[in-house]
Order: sequence, then C-alpha cells, then structure tokens
Amino acid sequence: MKIVIVGAGITGLATYLHLRKHLPSPLSHSIHIYESHRSLPLQSAETSLHGNLDELSSSTVLVGGGLGISPNGMRVLKDLDPDLYGAVVAQGFRAENFIFKGANGWTLGVQLTSDAKARRRVNSENAAEEGEVCIASSRHGLWECLKRAVEDSGGEIRYRKVVQVKRIDGNSNGQRVKIRSVDEQGSEASEHADLVVGADGVKSVVRTALFGDDEASKPIYTGQSGVGGFIQGPLADSIAQKRGMTFTFGPNGFFGYSPSAPISAKTLMWWSTFETSSLPDTKAIDTAAVKEALVKRHERWRDPLIQDIVQNAEVQSIYPTWVLDSLPNWGQDGMVLIGDAAHALDPTTGQGASQGLEDAQTLALLLANMLSTPTEAIAEQESEAVDVAIKLFYEIRAPRVEEIVKRGKKMSGRKADVGTLAEYMMYCFLWLMMKLPSIGKLILGDVHGDLYCWSAREEIQKALEQSRVTHRD
Ligand SMILES: Cc1cc2nc3c(=O)[nH]c(=O)nc-3n(C[C@H](O)[C@H](O)[C@H](O)COP(=O)(O)OP(=O)(O)OC[C@H]3O[C@@H](n4cnc5c(N)ncnc54)[C@H](O)[C@@H]3O)c2cc1C
Repeated sequence: MKIVIVGAGITGLATYLHLRKHLPSPLSHSIHIYESHRSLPLQSAETSLHGNLDELSSSTVLVGGGLGISPNGMRVLKDLDPDLYGAVVAQGFRAENFIFKGANGWTLGVQLTSDAKARRRVNSENAAEEGEVCIASSRHGLWECLKRAVEDSGGEIRYRKVVQVKRIDGNSNGQRVKIRSVDEQGSEASEHADLVVGADGVKSVVRTALFGDDEASKPIYTGQSGVGGFIQGPLADSIAQKRGMTFTFGPNGFFGYSPSAPISAKTLMWWSTFETSSLPDTKAIDTAAVKEALVKRHERWRDPLIQDIVQNAEVQSIYPTWVLDSLPNWGQDGMVLIGDAAHALDPTTGQGASQGLEDAQTLALLLANMLSTPTEAIAEQESEAVDVAIKLFYEIRAPRVEEIVKRGKKMSGRKADVGTLAEYMMYCFLWLMMKLPSIGKLILGDVHGDLYCWSAREEIQKALEQSRVTHRD
C-alpha cells in the first residue's frame, strides 16, 4: 500500500512511526511524509517566525513555543518506543505539579500531574504501575526526538508543500487519491496514493479536499491570542523546588511559565494569553507595541517572576488561537484527517500534542487490524478495509476529543477580560474546585480518570466487536 502523510508535525511524525511499528509486513508499504517548512533550531526559529507567519499553520508557528505532554501522551510514546520516550523525558522537564495562582498573588491550588492515583482508582490492576507525569518541553524538543526516530527507522521527510489533494476514480494500481506538491524552487510534481493522512494542522489542505469551501469546516478564531517564548538564565529557586508548571489567572488574561528542559539547562518557557476581539494582523505587527502591551497587561500582577519575565522577554510575534467545530467525519475514500487538522483544540486543554499522539496510535492500530486479520467479516478489499478503518477511527476518537473540547470551553472563559468582582469570584471558584475535588468533579467531570485511563486498544476492541455484530446482522 502507498501512504502519503501530509505534515511532519508532532502528529504526522508519530503516525509514521506507529504505521511502521504496527502495519503487517511494514516494509512492504511505502510511506512518504511531505512537509512545507524546514524547522529551525529554537534560537533561529524565534527570530525567523515573523516572516513566515502567513504560511505556517497556527500551531506550527509555535515551533519555538512550549507545551506540556500529559501522562496520557507520554504513555503513547512509551508504548510506541521506550527509547523515544526516554529521549523526550531527558530533554524536557518533569512537571510533577500544576500550580494555579491568581494575579493577586494567591495560590489557588496545586495538583499532582501523576496519573498513578486515577489509574489505580479506575482499575486496581494498574496498582503496581509507575505513574507518568506531565513533561514540559519546547515543541521543537519533542519534534526533534520524533524526527530523529523517523530518520533512524529509515524514514525521510520530503520538503514539499502539498497544494492540492483530490479524489480520483482509481488508477491501474487502484490508488484513489492524487497529491500535487511544489518544492522550495516552485517545481511541481504529482503522485497517487492509496491513503492520504492529513496531519497538516489547522489550515489543512486535506480537510479542504474533503469538505471543500464548507464554512463549517473552517478554523475559527477564538478571540484570544498569545505571546510567548523562552528565557535563558538562572531560574527562581521556587520553580526548582516546586517542580511544576505555573498557571496564573488574572482579570485581563492568563500567564504561564515552566522550565522546558532539565533544571540544569536553565531554560524557562513562558506564555501570556489575552483577549483581542479582532484578529491581530500578524503580518503588520509592531513588536515593540506588543511588548509594551505585555508589560502593561501584567504590571499589577503580584508574582515577581512574571515581572522579571515580561521585562526581559523578547517578543517576536503574536499568535492568534484557532479551533475547529466538530466535523461530521474525519475522512473517506482513502483520505483521513488526524491531529490538529481534525480537531484543533483550545490551548487551555493542554491536550493538543497528546491527542495527536493518541490519534496516531489509534489510526495505525486500526489499519493494522483491518489489513492483517481476515477482513471478510467487515471488508473484502484493501480499499474497503482502509475506509472501514477511517470510519472506526472517527467513531472511536471523535467522542473522546469532543469531551476534551467541552471541558476546554468551561476553562477558556477564565482567561477573558473581567472586572474586580468577577476576578475574585473566579479565584474563589478555582480555589474551591481544587480544595474540594467533588465540586471540581461536578463541574468538569472526572478529569484525571477520563484523560488518563483511556486506552486505544480497548476502544478498538469494543468497536471491532460492534462492527462485526452489525455486519453479521
Ligand atoms: C498557544 C498554544 C499553546 C499550546 N499548548 C499546548 C500544550 O500545552 N500542550 C499540548 O499538548 N499542546 C499544546 N498546543 C497544541 C500543539 O502544539 C498541537 O496541537 C500539536 O503540536 C499537534 O499538532 P499537529 O502535528 O497535528 O499539527 P501541526 O503542529 O500544525 O503540524 C502540521 C504540520 O503540517 C505542515 N503542513 C501544513 N500544511 C502543509 C502542506 N500543505 N503541505 C505540507 N506540509 C504542511 C506544517 O508545516 C506542520 O509542520 C498548543 C497550541 C497553541 C496554539
């Protein structure tokens, strides 16, 4: 089978690795990865972002930004390849706690990030397991570990921009999708594939192939934007001691910071999110004005570390946040969407990368299952098996992502501009939720249980049993 993955972001690279690991006779399949941008090392990426903004997908813009890989994402990496998992842990920061604060200086709560308790509670068989914690990392650091693993397994990234993906009636090899791409010099080429995986982020060209100009499939600006970056230098002792990521909520925005590498590397990542009802023009940005606005926005915030960061920060650009409404499907006819291309999540969820990793694992396991077991119970031909896998992929993954989106919406309101009364109500609400977990559960559900105890293998087994029953009936 010939597979083309569009996009070598976190999800695209992880998909390649999972396919190579799980597909039957993996070397009999050709898998190509297309990527429209050469990623740059952190320092040069930060200084070059500005010029590329219009071309990059929104999360790729954060090539020099930071993220958290939740325990559920870390478990997928461990399952994929213990060496890769080890490399990701080694380059990142073990964030054992999430520390929630108010701009007025109150500590509203501290949550352990470990999944051990939730997994024990949901299934006593997990009691002996070691807990996973959240790993804070530069996006580039995580990306580089995945890229190295792809290269080590013989994979190659083709630096070409995919400009069009199109269904065809099927060529002599039965391939149903045509891909047109251009290289850095503008020279065009096309090829056919049995399966195209759209891991091409929030502005996905594969999504356009599936849904055309349907407004309901277009990314939506959330009304919030962010600035962020890294600061090199001695870290405050308190960060080292608390071993956590700090999230501060205020009346006019949100501020986060955390080491993004082992403490010895003295690298602190930071980000500030705020409301901007109109979409900022990222091409005409005045960085001095953005920096000034950043300092002003946080001038009354009581955490001295935030003051240090905003004074010393170099602001390169502004990053509008995009999300997607739920789509009626994630693919058909040999095309499938995955990661941000299928479900760009609000950053509040802290699940973007982890959900991309879960998607990659689920899609590969489903394809492997459909292509290796005698499929006559469900599908007779390879193309049919691929389409059944795509359908099941959506049925398994969409409800999970939907739950995360719903929870994100409840929390994203906490970053909006509010008055003093609302500000203190927000602090009390957050404090109460963390002090009395039963209240938090009532509002947000069993967050840790839901997030950390999901298993792609279990869900696939259930879905396949259901499909076989339906098919027999
Ligand atoms: C402000 C912010 C904060 C975030 N914080 C977190 C966090 O704390 N934790 C977390 O887990 N996630 C976070 N995320 C999300 C996270 O970065 C992404 O969700 C995650 O990286 C998954 O991305 P992806 O690989 O699916 O898509 P992307 O990262 O967008 O990758 C898509 C790739 O496809 C390439 N591409 C696009 N179009 C084409 C084309 N036509 N041809 C060829 N290549 C193409 C792009 O260049 C890119 O490399 C955050 C996102 C934002 C915006």
